[in-house]
Amino acid sequence: IKKIAVMTSGGDSPGMNAAIRSVVRTCAYYRTSCVGIYRGYEGLIDGDFIDLTARSVNNIINKGGTILKSARSKEFRTKEGRAKAYEHLKEHKIDAMVVIGGDGSFTGAVVFNEEYKFPIIGIPGTIDNDIFGTTHTLGYDTALNTAVEAIDKIRDTASSHNRLFFVEVMGRDAGFIALNAGVGAGAEEILIPEEDLGLDRMLESLKKSRRAGKSSSIVVVAEGDKSGRNVYDLAKYVEENLPEYEARVSVLGHMQRGGAPSCFDRVLASRLGVKAVELLLDGQTNLMVGLKNNEVISTEISEAIKGGHTINMELLRVSDIMTT
Ligand code: ATP
Repeated sequence: IKKIAVMTSGGDSPGMNAAIRSVVRTCAYYRTSCVGIYRGYEGLIDGDFIDLTARSVNNIINKGGTILKSARSKEFRTKEGRAKAYEHLKEHKIDAMVVIGGDGSFTGAVVFNEEYKFPIIGIPGTIDNDIFGTTHTLGYDTALNTAVEAIDKIRDTASSHNRLFFVEVMGRDAGFIALNAGVGAGAEEILIPEEDLGLDRMLESLKKSRRAGKSSSIVVVAEGDKSGRNVYDLAKYVEENLPEYEARVSVLGHMQRGGAPSCFDRVLASRLGVKAVELLLDGQTNLMVGLKNNEVISTEISEAIKGGHTINMELLRVSDIMTT
């Protein structure tokens, strides 16, 4: 393997730049050429490439977003699109590819590998942490800290005005951010996509917190929580059932995807980038690198995209006890 390409694909996440840097520098270390592909699979189809040397990635370890840009590509879902992508790889004499992205990007990688037997290693980059085969995805730790910081600030105003705040955090299918940020910021109640705890439980816990003498409350809601109501309807529902509460809503939104990566994410990105390149140089393919028990491990990409990374329900119990 003489030339390795790297791309970021799907939703961006903090730490992607640190991973690009790691891939590029590891290639330089092993005297292997490295090419950056702009805009994920979209740029691959367009042949939008740039040669990267160790010096091309100076001063990016601390930057949010991705210098290679990211995209979602409809065309890569078609055979014709993937054929164009393969032609560009051949034309540029690229032997292997590192894809930094989420499960959609990995599904694309599996399909491409089945058709062209092209060596690919995946690095999990998504704030949702919803990928099997790693306890942490790149960007999750940063997003978690961003959410906790924001909830802390909301608590200041909630307690000044004796109000109830519903805070929506990202997570359409996974409650990792909601559950951990909720416990970390001391929320009274946490609603997640994995478990339908019922709205009665929420009302009970809010009543309990009033009886216990708390003047303000925070409920953290994941985007895709199981109640089937959006965060505004939840606030209305509580006001209708518990008139003593004045509820407000705050949707944190895309701020959770940005910002400088935490030290944890920078270190993780550096470790995963090294492993990804070393696996390719070792002739391995179709693997995703990840972290387990603080060791860098690899998992078949086809396994990783099947999901099954379950969240730690013990945290819900801890949260319950903490709201006593
Ligand atoms: P996030 O977790 O942030 O959503 P992701 O990597 O899951 O990131 P997706 O938009 O789901 O983001 O996927 C990224 C790209 O991967 C898609 O735009 C598409 O080009 C490619 N892709 C996804 N599924 C397939 C598939 N079945 N066949 C071919 N390509 C695919």
